[in-house]
Amino acid sequence: DPASRESGFHVDTQCPFCSVQCKIRLTKNIPLPGTQRSTYSVEGIPNAASEGRLCVKGMNAHQHVTSTDRLLQPLVKKDGKLTPASWEEALNRIRDNFLDVSERYGPDAIGLYGGGSLTNEAAYLLGKFARIALGTKYIDYNGRFCMSAAASAGNKTFGIDRGLTCRLSDIPLARCIILAGTNIAECQPTLMPYFTKAKENGAFIIVIDPRVTATAAIADIHLQIKPGTDAALANGMLKVLLSESLLDETFISDRTNGFAGLKQHLAAVDLDEIAEMTGLDKAIIHKAAVTYGQAETGILFTARGVEQQTDGHVAVRNFLNIVLATGKIGKPGCGYGAITGQGNGQGGREHGQKSDQLPGYRSIDDEQDRAYVAKVWGVESQEIPRKGVSAYEMMELVHQGAIRSLFVMGSNPVVSNPNADLVEEGLSKIDFLVVADMFLSETARMADVVLPVTAYLENDGTLTNLEGRVLLRETTIAAPGETRHDWSILCELAEMLGKQRYFPFESAEQIFNELRLASRGGLADYYGITYDRLRRDGGVYWPCPSTEENDTNGMLFEQAFAHADGKAIFHPVQSRLPQEIPDEQFPLTMTNGRVLSHYLTGVQTRRSPSLAARSVENFIELHPRTARKYKIEDGEWVEVSSRRGSFSVRSRITDKIREDTLFVPMHWGGVQNVNKATSPELDPNCKMPGFKTSAVSIRPLR
Ligand code: SF4
Repeated sequence: DPASRESGFHVDTQCPFCSVQCKIRLTKNIPLPGTQRSTYSVEGIPNAASEGRLCVKGMNAHQHVTSTDRLLQPLVKKDGKLTPASWEEALNRIRDNFLDVSERYGPDAIGLYGGGSLTNEAAYLLGKFARIALGTKYIDYNGRFCMSAAASAGNKTFGIDRGLTCRLSDIPLARCIILAGTNIAECQPTLMPYFTKAKENGAFIIVIDPRVTATAAIADIHLQIKPGTDAALANGMLKVLLSESLLDETFISDRTNGFAGLKQHLAAVDLDEIAEMTGLDKAIIHKAAVTYGQAETGILFTARGVEQQTDGHVAVRNFLNIVLATGKIGKPGCGYGAITGQGNGQGGREHGQKSDQLPGYRSIDDEQDRAYVAKVWGVESQEIPRKGVSAYEMMELVHQGAIRSLFVMGSNPVVSNPNADLVEEGLSKIDFLVVADMFLSETARMADVVLPVTAYLENDGTLTNLEGRVLLRETTIAAPGETRHDWSILCELAEMLGKQRYFPFESAEQIFNELRLASRGGLADYYGITYDRLRRDGGVYWPCPSTEENDTNGMLFEQAFAHADGKAIFHPVQSRLPQEIPDEQFPLTMTNGRVLSHYLTGVQTRRSPSLAARSVENFIELHPRTARKYKIEDGEWVEVSSRRGSFSVRSRITDKIREDTLFVPMHWGGVQNVNKATSPELDPNCKMPGFKTSAVSIRPLR
């Protein structure tokens, strides 16, 4: 009986964590006689993406849902303390504040901050709520830190941004695979068998990473690169391909523009300099490039290791130049993939919670796009505010006092933003902070009002996985306590703000149907996708403009790219060094990332006993010679400092990292928060912070 949380149940759902979106069958067993304790059985069910596999996160994803830490009632700050309150009191307080701030300072004094784990429906509605219910231009989301570099590079090069340009099923067909800055073995573990299958089929695997990760273990060549020099490496590899005549001249002339300019630019690229810059042997760079160039088929992947740099956009574009120059795209076993991190990292950025975008990947600057969406929403296009700023820039506006009220939905910005001390200071002095979350996250603890929301087992909605495949996740158990869905909170607040006619929704499906219309004719066209079709087919790729069957096979660019003339664009971009160079005071480069058992800032996974037990505290990886130099013992507490601030973690000495590099996971807040030291410098093209290249110092805490 799925309506009961007390008795046993048997439900099919989707993992709430990473972008693979594996399907789960969850069984709650009725307690044995004489015991109170329920047990759960979990198994994977085959779906198109995961083929029935689950990783340890998916196996334990029910644990945070049943956690006694769940927020079951709204909280309102009284005399400095968060105190249980009714929904009426909590929502009235929000409405009163929003109306007051808007009247006194204008609507742009209110900001909204969303998340890449929200369903497409919640993400769509949050964007509409910001622009139509509040009239503010300030909305952005944590996906800015996830995919913005790959998205902007894909848009410029191909004219469209979808995580994978091919399908996961193409991976075993590839004869050479480049994994640049992606540790899928820990971040998307159920994808690993695609790569081992490719290897069994004879594929040559090249991993680019400053660390010997679990993913690097399957590599034929591991390029253990200096952090922040990926853009240079890609240019070096392209230079080799050119000098070895391994380019696909027909593809270049028929399907691309801009190669002549790139060729000219490459004349000045010096492989010795590239080797010096990247810390790699010239012969290995040569071998990697030649192997990829000679392979009949190939897929190149990037992820946050390449993208979370102040030149992440440039680095991805340089890698895309390699893909285009060898013609390895738009055919079986070929393509490019940006491996999304968050559960709905793909869909979350397509429908309007990003400052520069309207639903369907429409541009907020384009008059035709604005007019189209305005018509769907029933407003004049001038009523849609113009572009705001990126996630971290919003935090700066909070700190400066320009944003006086902030509504955070499905995110934990005080832990996930770079320069976390500045963010915390800003949020501690903001006039009014609202957080909608399942738990009292580090950000929620600072809020004036906290709204308890439903978990993935308790609400309906669609998510778009890393392939661009839209999947429906339906409600499987009743919501506990007074928790509400994200979308219903937004509808109720809109009604209280006098905007009910724009938010008449009574179900997630109704919102999706408006999203379908709003996206129609856009780059991310969902018009042909319906809940019924998703129930029947189990997942549908976008773009899907028609409700007819079989109008999409998931492979992009078979005939044409998405630019007006159907051609992709080469871009001659520089081999730039990272902006924050280690110096005498901060001599080491710190990079960050994930561990297998945790997700994002750990708000959910740290509340899952099985996951928390696997990784109870944060740590820093450093090379034995680095440890000796700074007199650090294995397992002792160290302080890591940068120009921004300091944090403390336990040391983990390993020879699986470069001597000039440190690695710290990103899942912990408070004194263990790596982001107290990370660089807030932003990529000028996409506003991605330079998480992966922070200059730091380290000392033992004794
Ligand atoms: Fe699958 Fe990702 Fe969930 Fe693991 S975390 S079960 S790989 S969706």
